[in-house]
Amino acid sequence: MTVQPAPSRSGQPAPNRSGLETPAPGVPSVVDGALVSTSPATGEEVGRFGVDGEAEVRAAVARARDAAGWWAGQGFKARKKLLSAWRRAMAQRIDELTELMHREGGKPLDDALIEATIALEHIDWAARKAEKVLGPRRVSAGLLMANQAASVEYPPLGVVGVIGPWNYPVLTPMGSIAYALAAGNAVVFKPSEYTPAVGSWLVETFAEVVSDAPVLQLVTGLGETGAALCRSGVDKIAFTGSTATGKKVMAACAETLTPVLMECGGKDVLIVDADADLDAAADAALWGGMSNAGQTCVGVERVYVLEPVYDQFVDKLVTRASSLKAGAEPDADLGPITMPSQIDVIRRHIDDALAHGGRAVVGGPESVRAPFVDPVILVDVPEESAAIQEETFGPTLTVAKVADVEDAVNRANGTRYALGATVFSKRRGVEIARRLRSGMASVNGIVSFAGVAALPFGGVGDSGFGRIHGEDGLREFTRPKSIARTRFSLPMALLSFDRTEKTNALLKTLVRRLYGRR
Ligand code: NDP
Repeated sequence: MTVQPAPSRSGQPAPNRSGLETPAPGVPSVVDGALVSTSPATGEEVGRFGVDGEAEVRAAVARARDAAGWWAGQGFKARKKLLSAWRRAMAQRIDELTELMHREGGKPLDDALIEATIALEHIDWAARKAEKVLGPRRVSAGLLMANQAASVEYPPLGVVGVIGPWNYPVLTPMGSIAYALAAGNAVVFKPSEYTPAVGSWLVETFAEVVSDAPVLQLVTGLGETGAALCRSGVDKIAFTGSTATGKKVMAACAETLTPVLMECGGKDVLIVDADADLDAAADAALWGGMSNAGQTCVGVERVYVLEPVYDQFVDKLVTRASSLKAGAEPDADLGPITMPSQIDVIRRHIDDALAHGGRAVVGGPESVRAPFVDPVILVDVPEESAAIQEETFGPTLTVAKVADVEDAVNRANGTRYALGATVFSKRRGVEIARRLRSGMASVNGIVSFAGVAALPFGGVGDSGFGRIHGEDGLREFTRPKSIARTRFSLPMALLSFDRTEKTNALLKTLVRRLYGRR
């Protein structure tokens, strides 16, 4: 990893993923062999980083391989201490972190603070719970194998490669990093090319606490660096990003049978039941859809409202939304769109919805004023249109009237994505939540599941598979190891060529008693 302080921009920009020779503000570029990270709001340079190729990535993984043995050897208690020290160091420097997140990703300081807080909660939980969840545990051997002492434990995989997105540059990779580390793995982390400075900050603060071995390392660069990590021989890749890239990651990992965890895109829904608290629902829809400028994998993108309360709900939503504005200020309601190419997607979805009979009740095409997008709320949008079926990843909401809960559930379950969901209902919130095809659901709250560290987080369908967070998130970075120890010999030798006819007859009697009666 090469990190240089932010000098003034010099030299000719090499082609970057935007395909432009001179990159637009906020588009990372490679200049003089360095990845230049810039603010999406102002274009100001934030830092320069290495463009790590296959050799650098393999070297990092080799170092991690040695470090993994040392880290696993520390045991749960020592790791808990060190991870807690890291959490404390981050918490004490929270202003520095959120300011960097604001400068590099554009998000307002408030959004950055919420993100960082939840990430700290996850480090804390993973560090505290790892021993109980992953340590040796006796299990019943059952009547058939009553002479055995059976136990299971969850040793670490070794080296985990974490590939992260830019939209939550602290929280999303931390869902893998903290849990993989707590389980005893070394980690090689490739942040998005849009947020290498934040990634570097995380790795540097960790190294200040754990300096004996490179347990958490950074590799930086463009997509090719991530691809090299997939082929580097790591024991698992934890990927968070778009579904399209996820497929490429899986294909690359298939070459070496490297297991993968896929945290991909979403098209989350919020359902408003007829008996819902409409003020709370409108507030949640707005925050769920517009915070972080809508660039949230579990952000609300679609709202389905039962017919009797539809008009009232839309009125409340419109009133609240009308005062929100995007801007570059640290205390803006919404920050800029971090990835300039996403502006085209947002614009296309709005235009397409309007062209097919949709109406904008807040904002419209004029709300797109790159790099900012002000809130847009669309109604009467046909279900098959892009704004309903594809991930928009901007501050837009579609709101539709539904006849009943059945209708709401059917439409909610009608996209290829299935990540999170929200239900507002007084009487049947959990009942509706259970019927939704999603990995998580919040009832009468918004993305609450992400902040409950004990709850597993992950998707279904195009939203991916595998789980971060919670006990499942810890186990994701381990392999179950089962041990059956013979406590005493049985009078009849079952698993032996010395088995006699008498033993077989006894076994038949046992089978009838054990399995033929209950
Ligand atoms: P991308 O898919 O563009 O990139 C994700 C990561 O993959 C980046 O680090 C990227 O590097 C890297 N990458 C790109 N190409 C390859 C490749 N061929 N092989 C290996 N790695 C590669 O996603 P975004 O960064 O744009 O993030 C937004 C997406 O992430 C949205 O779809 C969002 O829904 C999803 N997401 C999902 C979450 C979840 O928990 N389910 C949470 C947060 C976001 P580089 O940036 O350098 O190209």
